[in-house]
Amino acid sequence: MSDDKKEPIVKQDKDGQEGNSASQELSQVDMPSALSVKQLADLLGVGAVEVIKQLMRNGVMANINQAIDFDTAAVIAADFGYKANKQPVPVQTKPSATAKGGKLSPCPPVITIMGHVDHGKTSLLDAIRQSNIIASEAGAITQHIGAYQAEVNERRITFLDTPGHEAFTAMRARGARATNIAVLVVAADDGVMPQTVEAINHARAAEVPIVVAINKIDKANANPDRIKQQLADLGLIVEEWGGDTVCVPISAKKRQGIDDLLENLLLVADMLELKAEPDCPAEGIVIEARLDKTKGPLATLLVQKGNLKPSDNLVIGNTWGKVKAMFNDLGKQIRKAEPATPVEVLGMNAVPQAGDSFVVVANERAARTVLEKQKGVQQGFSTAAKTLSLTDLSTQISAGQVKELNVVLKTDVQGSIEPVKDSLEQLGDEKIRVRVIHSGSGSITESDVLLALASKGIIIGFNSRPEPGAHRLADLEGINIRYYSVIYELVNDVDKALKGMLEPTLTDVIEGHAEVLAVFTTGKKAKVAGVSVKEGKARRDALSRVLRQGESIHESRVSSLRRFKEDIREVSAGLECGVGIENFLDFQVGDVIQFYRHEKVI
Ligand code: GDP
Ligand code: MG
Repeated sequence: MSDDKKEPIVKQDKDGQEGNSASQELSQVDMPSALSVKQLADLLGVGAVEVIKQLMRNGVMANINQAIDFDTAAVIAADFGYKANKQPVPVQTKPSATAKGGKLSPCPPVITIMGHVDHGKTSLLDAIRQSNIIASEAGAITQHIGAYQAEVNERRITFLDTPGHEAFTAMRARGARATNIAVLVVAADDGVMPQTVEAINHARAAEVPIVVAINKIDKANANPDRIKQQLADLGLIVEEWGGDTVCVPISAKKRQGIDDLLENLLLVADMLELKAEPDCPAEGIVIEARLDKTKGPLATLLVQKGNLKPSDNLVIGNTWGKVKAMFNDLGKQIRKAEPATPVEVLGMNAVPQAGDSFVVVANERAARTVLEKQKGVQQGFSTAAKTLSLTDLSTQISAGQVKELNVVLKTDVQGSIEPVKDSLEQLGDEKIRVRVIHSGSGSITESDVLLALASKGIIIGFNSRPEPGAHRLADLEGINIRYYSVIYELVNDVDKALKGMLEPTLTDVIEGHAEVLAVFTTGKKAKVAGVSVKEGKARRDALSRVLRQGESIHESRVSSLRRFKEDIREVSAGLECGVGIENFLDFQVGDVIQFYRHEKVI
């Protein structure tokens, strides 16, 4: 990155947004030789998403947990008005406000609806859509674009259309913060259920305020007071009982209490003082994206800053484009999208991913340059540690960089949760403590992995194992899952980690994977698999793991790697080859062979 320093940063516009000319005026900030995007954001006192976007403008793609080097960090710091000094350990210089000035105007809140299955999330979204949609023309048919705006008392509220905390946390895991307020739907006839608890924990981990909607109050057996009691047990005390949780009784089916809920959402939004910069090039995130057979790639974007306009040039995730046309949630073509407005945009060159950030750049050439740079840098980043292992944490804790260890705890039986949680929460001292952000019984799910990823935490399985999908996701994202069956060992390990004394352990670094297309017998009994390398590379000296339907069935070294009868050292993605694995003959078509190496985690 240091070679790039003299190159001009791609300016987004000529209006002096970058304004860091008065270098002698810059405040000082100390930072280590490498740090994560999150740490850099904390040091600069700005949101991680701001840093990610600024990195994008400078041609660097990095997610919130990724490590960047000092030179890169220094360039970004300068963009935010700071001069970076290299330090072995970061010093806490936390400025109070963003260095970038700019007028701020109030902006509508963005809401996600969460809650247990069948408690009425979809019905509530439909009820709001049908009765409060901003329909100027009679009979306007709303389009499903992933989000919509409702209007109450001439003010707008944006609703994300995908209900549930998994979607919410998946976005957060990609570094995107889309939601300002979470509405927790609890059915009055059913009460607090496991996913209600999960939703609360996911919202809390994201520090998003919760508004409770007690739904189905039209039912004869509805018992709102019982719900309030159950919520109080979880620390959510409703206002009428002296707490600060707003709670509104509703019936999504009978359309009762909907306006009351919306008005309350506006009140909570007022307390949050949501503001956005309107007069700058637009920025925001991708809510949804798909490929339309006739229109090409379509993306629903949530504008978070500035105004998005037709013919704006965008860098969006790993792709770019020019806004050809924009449509709102009523399918109407619009010429300007303000902060908190969801718009469907035509004109991308490829389909971006939900949760990707976008920024407007000056022109097509600037967009291409940013993407070209991204590619180069991404290769350099691919091996960077993405997330924390317990041993990483141990090192960071001893350096005083981490104050809380976030833990998602899963146990086999309900009865084990409290004792394990209590022992964990007793560990640590005034400098560092364990925070159990979610606990529950049963297997480890994808939702648990997403939560750990988004909260930079680890997962502890006490006699609990991951579901295959969760295992894959954890592997892919480098989330550390620790398994224990004895409380003493669990407590001992975490205690050592907190004291910064945990011994380095070996971790698996996945280099690639291949799919078995055919099975051959060579010689007397040796079997080899004819495979197609799908991602990364297959290496002769690698360790390998055979996965069948997501479950690992064998692990050992690669014994042979051949292409056109030649022994070779490695095969890259897109090519086919023959693979033999030590002590393994039982290949089946459809098996996935993962290639990996052990690396010491320090
Ligand atoms: P989701 O899984 O949380 O999205 O729940 P749905 O919106 O799909 O609703 C689940 C079921 O509860 C459906 O059969 C709805 O008709 C019903 N339902 C939703 N809201 C109400 C309500 O206010 N009153 C009654 N009686 N039923 C409701
Ligand atoms: Mg639903």
